[in-house]
Amino acid sequence: KPAIVLENITKIYHMGETRVIALKGINLTVQEGEMVAVMGPSGSGKSTLLNILGCLDRPTGGTYYLGGEDVSRLNKNQLALIRNKRIGFVFQSFNLLGRFPVLANVQLPLVYAGVGKKEMVERAKEALDWVGMSRYAHHYPGQLSGGQQQRVAIARALVNDPSIILVDEPTGALDSRTSIEIISVIQRLNMEKGITVVMVTHEKDIALYCRRLVNMRDGCILGDTPVPSPGNAA
Ligand code: ADP
Ligand code: ADP
Repeated sequence: KPAIVLENITKIYHMGETRVIALKGINLTVQEGEMVAVMGPSGSGKSTLLNILGCLDRPTGGTYYLGGEDVSRLNKNQLALIRNKRIGFVFQSFNLLGRFPVLANVQLPLVYAGVGKKEMVERAKEALDWVGMSRYAHHYPGQLSGGQQQRVAIARALVNDPSIILVDEPTGALDSRTSIEIISVIQRLNMEKGITVVMVTHEKDIALYCRRLVNMRDGCILGDTPVPSPGNAA
């Protein structure tokens, strides 16, 4: 069953007189439970694609089916609702709120979803446990290493039980040993929880943890190839 279907997706940015065509007719289907890496040079449209997949932005043209539902013409509020219910995000810079303890950071998506206080705490603790960070529930993000912060960000991404997790350069700010640990956690999300993962990365070694590699160039998909299974070894 497809989790994501993109049909002829285009995105044009207007900057005064100039038009930038960031996506030039993208066709892409991602099945439920797949783990896909998106690679390509800077400016090739990867972030734009991820923003559209994450319902953070709308395409200029084309159709986006998320879990079978056409979401390409929803308004901003409707998109926010879909985003909060079905999508988790993990970023290069972790994007944790420094003024709040770890537990509150992980709870945040549940606050927006209107989950009750008791259930919120339980689910946040469960998510922290899953990434091996329960001991740090009352620490502040600034007291944690980069790898630990990214684990917390992964807990926040999964707390809402999303069907899709979108990952943007998850290891860009981490040393190579910690990068391997983090990509292994993301791989475990996919394999143990069955969550569909789409990940943008510049790092070939990290991309090889995915089972499929999409290559972008100049707003187009230039290649879309399976990764041979030795690359999936954790
Ligand atoms: P990548 O993530 O692969 O580096 P992007 O999706 O960020 O590529 O950018 C694709 C193209 O769209 C680039 O030419 C970039 O300059 C342009 N672009 C991206 N975001 C905006 C924006 N908000 N306004 C105008 N142009 C943009
Ligand atoms: P650092 O960034 O300081 O190297 P890590 O990100 O490796 O820290 O680890 C963060 C926390 O998660 C640590 O308390 C560590 O003991 C724990 N941890 C590390 N690897 C795993 C794992 N595979 N499963 C569960 N917990 C882990």
